[in-house]
Amino acid sequence: MIIVLRPDATDADLDHIVKKLRDLGLQAHISKGVERTLVGAIGDEAVLRSIPLEAFPGVENVLPILKPFKLASRDFRKENSIVRIGNVEVGAGRIAVIAGPCAVENRTLMVEIAKGVKEGGANLLRGGAFKPRTSPYAFQGLEEEGLKYLVEARERTGLPIVTEVMDPRDIQLIAEHADVLQIGARNMQNFRLLKDVGLCKKPVLLKRGISATIKEWLMSAEYIMAGGNHQVILCERGIRTYETETRNTLDLAAIPVLKKLTHLPVIVDPSHAVGKRDLVAPMAKAAVAAGADGLLIEVHANPEEALCDGEQSLKPAAFKQLMDDLRPIARAVGREI
Ligand code: PEP
Ligand code: MN
Repeated sequence: MIIVLRPDATDADLDHIVKKLRDLGLQAHISKGVERTLVGAIGDEAVLRSIPLEAFPGVENVLPILKPFKLASRDFRKENSIVRIGNVEVGAGRIAVIAGPCAVENRTLMVEIAKGVKEGGANLLRGGAFKPRTSPYAFQGLEEEGLKYLVEARERTGLPIVTEVMDPRDIQLIAEHADVLQIGARNMQNFRLLKDVGLCKKPVLLKRGISATIKEWLMSAEYIMAGGNHQVILCERGIRTYETETRNTLDLAAIPVLKKLTHLPVIVDPSHAVGKRDLVAPMAKAAVAAGADGLLIEVHANPEEALCDGEQSLKPAAFKQLMDDLRPIARAVGREI
C-alpha cells in the first residue's frame, strides 16, 4: 500500500504511522517528495488490509501498489531516483559513463587504462576482479589482488570504482574496496546475493539477466531494495535471442519501458550486448538517444592481448572519440555528457 500524507502532516503523524506498521511486522519505507511524503507499507496483505490506515492523523489517501515490484515502482516514487557515487550523480540528467577493462589483469595495465578512460571523459572506472566465466578453465580474475589495483587506479585518477560481486561471501571484502557493487547478468536471480547486497550501504549496479523479462529484473531490484538498500542502478546489457550476428540483442525499448515502470536510473552496456568493437559506438549513441542515464563501455589499452572480452573492447582513443560524438546526441535529448 502507498500511504499518501497530507501536505500539513507533521513528523509526529509520520512517526506514529511508521511505528504502527513496524509493530505489526510490516515494512515502512518513507519517500519524501517535493510536494508530498509517501509511506510504502509492505508485507502481509491481510495484515495491511486490517489496519484502518485512512483514519490515521495526517493521512490523505491510501492506494494499493498493483505492481508486484513495490519499492522499485513509479507508483511508490514519482520522481527519478538519483544514485550518488562520490560526486557523480546517476539519474540526475548528466549521462554517467563507466569505462574500463573487462578484467583487472595487472597493476600497470589497470593504471594505464584508468588514465586513458579518465582522459576520454569517463566518470567511473570498471574492472572485474572476480570474473563470471563460462569456462572454468578461462581466467577467473585476480580477486583480492585485483581489488588493490583498482584502488590504486582510483587513487591515481579520482575515478570511483565499479566491480562485480559473485558470491555473498565476498561482499564485505569487495565493499571495503569498491564504490559500486556490480551484480552480473548471470547472477541477476541469485536471490541470496541480492538479499545480502540489500543489507549493504553501497550502490548496486544490477545487470539484466541473460534471458530475464523486465518484470523479473525489477523483482530482482526489489529484493535489494527490500533489504533497505535503495541505491540501485539498472543496466541493460542485451538479452539472448535467436540472432547470432551479435553476442546478445540489445533491448533498447527496455529504456523507455523502464522509465515508465520505475524511478530507478537506467544505464546501457552496449559492449556485452553486441560483443563486437565496431558495433559499440552506434549502440551507445542509440542508447543515449533513447533516454539512458548512463553507459558502461569496455576499454582496453591492448584489446588483442586482453584476457577477457578483447573483441568488444575499445582502445582509449576510440573511447574518447565516442565521448566526443555522444555530446551533440546528449544535448539533443536535453542532457549533458
Ligand atoms: C562484465 O561486466 O564484465 C560482465 C561479465 O557482464 P555481464 O554480467 O553483463 O555478462
Ligand atoms: Mn566483459
